[in-house]
Amino acid sequence: MNGAQPRDVNGAEGRMPLVDPFGRAISYLRVSVTDRCDFRCVYCMSEHMSFLPKADVLSLEELDRLCSAFVARGVRKLRLTGGEPLVRRGIMTLVNALARHLRSGDLDELTLTTNGSQLAKYAAELKAAGVRRLNVSLDTLDADKFRAITRWGELNQVLAGIDAAQAAGLKIKINAVALKGVNDDEFPQLIEWAHGRGMDLTLIEVMPLGEIGEGRLEQYLPLSMVRARLAERLTLDEIDYRTGGPARYVRIAETGGRLGFITPLTHNFCESCNRVRVTCTGTLYMCLGQEDAADLRKPLRASEGNDLLFAAIDEAIGRKPKGHDFVIDRRHQRPALSRHMSVTGG
Ligand code: SAM
Repeated sequence: MNGAQPRDVNGAEGRMPLVDPFGRAISYLRVSVTDRCDFRCVYCMSEHMSFLPKADVLSLEELDRLCSAFVARGVRKLRLTGGEPLVRRGIMTLVNALARHLRSGDLDELTLTTNGSQLAKYAAELKAAGVRRLNVSLDTLDADKFRAITRWGELNQVLAGIDAAQAAGLKIKINAVALKGVNDDEFPQLIEWAHGRGMDLTLIEVMPLGEIGEGRLEQYLPLSMVRARLAERLTLDEIDYRTGGPARYVRIAETGGRLGFITPLTHNFCESCNRVRVTCTGTLYMCLGQEDAADLRKPLRASEGNDLLFAAIDEAIGRKPKGHDFVIDRRHQRPALSRHMSVTGG
């Protein structure tokens, strides 16, 4: 942004909040700020990914303008994701610019989902900018397994990042993807570790997104099974806790901590969906599990004002679908969607 003042939201006066055809108010925007990542998690990317040319990717100013347009239309929670958001050059310029919406009271929360590899470097700056919570993705505490899952990652670097984030006063939630035969023997240990450090843990089912070069059926582990197995050795008490996301939580009596389950396959969580996703090229996905999308880059770049952009957003929200249906079984081993999770960032 070269020190220039961020563009202010314009043309939003008197505009209505975004409400989809099913009466759901869109209050949560997830923005993938880059398609690049310093890891190559086996369930997320293939080893040899080709990434987008720079000209296709929105500049930091454009990302700021796009996010701010959504804030002007009632989005109260903004999550930056990727790829890996903290490998985007100049990421703190964007975070610091967006933080003005926290100060003005137009935004309740600015947060990130990260693999933690760069957290030691950025934790203090994120906290100073007004970020209060982070989701860190971590599937195992075994260094060899971690390397095998992420292909390129170093467990120690991520653990140091988590240490730095907690030392800076950031609240951390750990997200772990449940992988059959890979980390399914580790959940009790992960629970004990996360809860022992005051962090919630959420388990996520593998979703059939993108060609990854191996079968999903080998990876897929229904969380209903995980839950039943955990219940044999731990006490899982149902609780009402909601973060506004799709996770359903229990409290583990033995640790006192919360365990969340995100079950897009075994339990459809669409009825309360309040979110949309924008990629780093300005493509708006109205549903994580559907191909339909709207190009916001064109209206964004077509004029300095936001009228065209608002019109494109309105038109797209008007066709947000009721929900999605993922299936992974023997007949459905191909990706349900061609795009990888790194396009939308989860
Ligand atoms: N790089 C950041 C990170 O690691 O958190 C943000 C992007 S990453 C795509 C967001 C989350 O999506 C991570 O928790 C990752 O484990 C998860 N993820 C990626 N591919 C997935 C898939 N096919 N099914 C379920 N979760 C997936």
